Amino acid sequence: DVRVRFCPSPTGTPHVGMVRTALFNWAEARATGGKLIFRIEDTDAARDSEESYNQILEALRWLGIDWDEGIDVGGPHGPYRQSERTDIYKDVAAKLLAAGYAYESYSTPEEIKERNLAAGRPAEFGYDGYDRDLTEEQKAAFRAEGRKPALRIRMPDEDIAFDDLIRGRIEFKAGSVPDYVIVRPNGDALYTLTNPVDDALMEINVVLRGEDLLSSTPRQIVLYRYLEALGIAKTTPLFGHMPYVMGQGNKKLSKRDPESNLFNHRDAGFIREGLLNYLALLGWSIAPDRDVFSMQEMIEKFDVRDVKANPARFDLDKAISINAEHIRMLDADDFLRRSVPYLHRDGVVSADSWDALTEREQAVLTAAAPLVQPRVRLLGEVAGMVGSLLSTDGYIEPDDDARKQLKDSAGAVLDLAVATLEGVSEADWKTDFLHETLNKALVEDGGYKPRLAFGPVRVAMSGRRVSPPLFESMEIVGREVSLARLRGLRE
Ligand code: GLU
Repeated sequence: DVRVRFCPSPTGTPHVGMVRTALFNWAEARATGGKLIFRIEDTDAARDSEESYNQILEALRWLGIDWDEGIDVGGPHGPYRQSERTDIYKDVAAKLLAAGYAYESYSTPEEIKERNLAAGRPAEFGYDGYDRDLTEEQKAAFRAEGRKPALRIRMPDEDIAFDDLIRGRIEFKAGSVPDYVIVRPNGDALYTLTNPVDDALMEINVVLRGEDLLSSTPRQIVLYRYLEALGIAKTTPLFGHMPYVMGQGNKKLSKRDPESNLFNHRDAGFIREGLLNYLALLGWSIAPDRDVFSMQEMIEKFDVRDVKANPARFDLDKAISINAEHIRMLDADDFLRRSVPYLHRDGVVSADSWDALTEREQAVLTAAAPLVQPRVRLLGEVAGMVGSLLSTDGYIEPDDDARKQLKDSAGAVLDLAVATLEGVSEADWKTDFLHETLNKALVEDGGYKPRLAFGPVRVAMSGRRVSPPLFESMEIVGREVSLARLRGLRE
């Protein structure tokens, strides 16, 4: 059975690359009937934070990415936070050392640099293997100087190759990967040790992760070999390295780029279905001519071998248009419930959940839903559409864009509209009747082109150039407030 993992380090806010990794691992687990293990790699106390940890959980829950073992849900291979597994790493490090797979290294970074320069190599060439075969006397002498050793893995003098699930055969030449540190002189175990050890103990057999980690794979493959020899690992996992996500100007999307921040997308009003659908397209596709699909469809079709190796481009416009499609597919009720937090944030309703809204707010929103839902691409746009419908103000200040719509004839048009609508009774104040009546008065009899006739009325009703359909809006807002707004703009 497939066992995949999602194992972020809790540094910073969740970003697009991280969530794409979570999604593809989840899809692989669900597509194969395997298990997704969620662990947290918090071995770097200086960079890790509890806030980031909480945000990662919040992000997964919001997206509906669930896991079978790990954080919160537990499982047979816990604990699932690396900061709680230090004894395990100590024990494994000691075994690697005793078996000669790792050795004590006393060289300081400065000494390594100096030796490289002296030998005519670039200073940053990397570690030269100097401490590989120190005698007991040499080690004792270093210790007498007060030095403490790091532990390094002894890399074999041979080519290392593996078949990447996404990229095919990958080879690293013998000697190209230096002996690397797994435990610092102060005793801290590093990612180089903790990640493969946990993958081994948690019986992970498929590792799907970003291309940026490709250079650590030959090291990990060697470590697996040693862990297998020690009886700690059962197998070496299969690896698949997912393509980089590129941002503007064909540069790698940086974690710090606002476009990369998951919560920025949520705040803008992406719904989970839309965002997940878009993230799925960063390296994968369901069919050549299809962009919009559900997660259920994704897990029916997903196969990691179909992931493409070439870089994926993060295209916000495309993401937004996919989101719009998913918004349209929601039940009206669901659409409204999900919109309320955004409406509350933007100050157009009185509470942040549907059930806590006033009856009038619920009634207006229910009437507005069919007008608004097909016209928004992000939930953050709903407030701008319904704000004027929820408001009972008799005057709405037009925004600049709307003001530009007001031509010289606007005053006369508004006067005619007011005079006409004053003759419409409360009982007749209905979409179709309003449409007929105003059309007759302004266009047929008045001789105004429809755009000049209805433009000022629209601006008076909503204060915006783009708004929900006009006559429906007038019905929702009602006779009194509508007339007040038409008069208000006239003044
Ligand atoms: N904690 C590592 C990271 O966030 C995980 C790398 C891996 O998937 O092996 O980059």
